[in-house]
Amino acid sequence: MSTLSNPFFFFYSSPPPTLRFHSPSTRPRPLSLRPKASAAAPVEPPPVPAKSVENVVIIGSGPAGYTAAIYAARANLKPVVFEGYQVGGVPGGQLMTTTEVENFPGFPDGITGPDLMDRMRRQAERWGAELFQEDVEHIDVKNNPFTIRSSEREVKCHSMIFATGATAKRLRLPREDEFWSRGISACAICDGASPLFKGQVLGVVGGGDTATEEALYLTKYARHVHLLVRKDQLRASKAMQDRVYNNPNITLHFNTETVDVVSNMKGQMSGILTKRVDSGEESVLEAKGLFYGIGHSPNSQLLQGQVKLDSSGYVLVEEGSAKTSVEGVFAAGDVQDHQWRQAITAAGSGCIAALSVERYLVSNNLLVEFHQPQTEEVKKELTDRDVQEGFDITLTKHKGQYALRKLYHESPRLICVLYTAPTCGPCRTLKPILSKVIDEFDQNVHFVEIDIEEDPEIAEAAGIMGTPCVQFFKNKEMIRTVSGVKMKREYREFIEVNK
Ligand SMILES: Cc1cc2nc3c(=O)[nH]c(=O)nc-3n(C[C@H](O)[C@H](O)[C@H](O)COP(=O)(O)OP(=O)(O)OC[C@H]3O[C@@H](n4cnc5c(N)ncnc54)[C@H](O)[C@@H]3O)c2cc1C
Repeated sequence: MSTLSNPFFFFYSSPPPTLRFHSPSTRPRPLSLRPKASAAAPVEPPPVPAKSVENVVIIGSGPAGYTAAIYAARANLKPVVFEGYQVGGVPGGQLMTTTEVENFPGFPDGITGPDLMDRMRRQAERWGAELFQEDVEHIDVKNNPFTIRSSEREVKCHSMIFATGATAKRLRLPREDEFWSRGISACAICDGASPLFKGQVLGVVGGGDTATEEALYLTKYARHVHLLVRKDQLRASKAMQDRVYNNPNITLHFNTETVDVVSNMKGQMSGILTKRVDSGEESVLEAKGLFYGIGHSPNSQLLQGQVKLDSSGYVLVEEGSAKTSVEGVFAAGDVQDHQWRQAITAAGSGCIAALSVERYLVSNNLLVEFHQPQTEEVKKELTDRDVQEGFDITLTKHKGQYALRKLYHESPRLICVLYTAPTCGPCRTLKPILSKVIDEFDQNVHFVEIDIEEDPEIAEAAGIMGTPCVQFFKNKEMIRTVSGVKMKREYREFIEVNK
């Protein structure tokens, strides 16, 4: 038996008790649909006919999308939000991949990106936005009402806010696919703490804010970081440049192109093939990992041929507004902004887009208002006290290495293990999704969440190279590893066949 298929067989000693794991529901609260009360309206207003055409659909759940959702929901428009899932980044957007956000107003001590996005999401949900963690696959804005289709539903709407942000670019190195998530990563925050990279020499490509932030973050875990910059200077802000220059654990390589990665006899990544831009000289830099920090492309493919885009694919909006070339279609955030690209500017443009939608619906006599009952309880968050200590094998969901060891040795069920890291945004996306799938198989499967910072030895034994990562075990054998965030049906189908 290999340690890879049986990573926990040697762990069964007497560990401390662990915590029970309960994932909070992420379902939107039911909404009561009532028309706006007029002065003469009775105390109990009559019900509104079911909506066949939505007031507004918002696509995207970064700062722009959630801010638009908050404003539209507060204006009683009951917006439908497609938060995305995979194609254009995770729900919550780019800030899900960062640690401290120190410049968003209202947080004098800073706030982590995932926490900030959690708050925005809850605020939108609280005021009645309907949220779906699904990618939009098709849009038709040539005919009004517009049509928006995801993998799971089709929605008609009178107006739309497009806030799909931007996606990290890839270098397309010859061996990129071979080493993706096995040495190459585009998210230092997600993968930097994994055993694969801890204590190792790493490379980061790029010369802007993203690359410098990644390099600085990685010095927390890596032995040394090489920053590979094609130009002869950094593009990053002055503050970031200073931090990089003053960090003895970062070596800057200017005029250096990243050509490929190289591997050792065991097939592991062992170095980066680089080329001097000035002399053309090639050399190999010893490194166990390579992180991309080379910028982003706008996620505007769905609007191609329907709405005017600029030559780089950014959505064109009328200056100082959110109006696109199609009436009723508005754009906000990084997908229409190649210049400022900040959380606060994205949020500001989301606000403008939502207010513009309201005006547009009113002026076209299309607006239907929806009110929530005042008395509705605000959803209670789990507190530490809610999470009780102890291990009970009859429960489906667990947390920590003690539970995993117990289940590994004692449970006849299929065991689904989710490895997460505290700063990993995509982990927060995957957790509720996987949790819902597990609920469908309650009593047939066990679920354990492992925080790789709390339980590094388990993560190392299991060969975890990045988070989120899911492993399935049955009869003390590891039967599958699934890295990253995949479609719900992929987990569901595997559990169905192997339970
Ligand atoms: C590493 C890093 C650190 C940063 N740090 C800071 C900082 O400290 N302060 C700051 O102000 N800014 C920071 N930024 C910039 C900031 O994150 C962006 O400017 C901001 O997130 C843009 O917001 P957005 O709403 O336009 O788009 P995004 O945040 O990119 O969100 C886009 C959303 O659209 C969704 N989506 C895409 N395609 C689809 C589809 N087909 N269907 C449904 N949904 C879809 C995605 O899932 C995502 O939810 C940072 C960026 C990065 C990458």
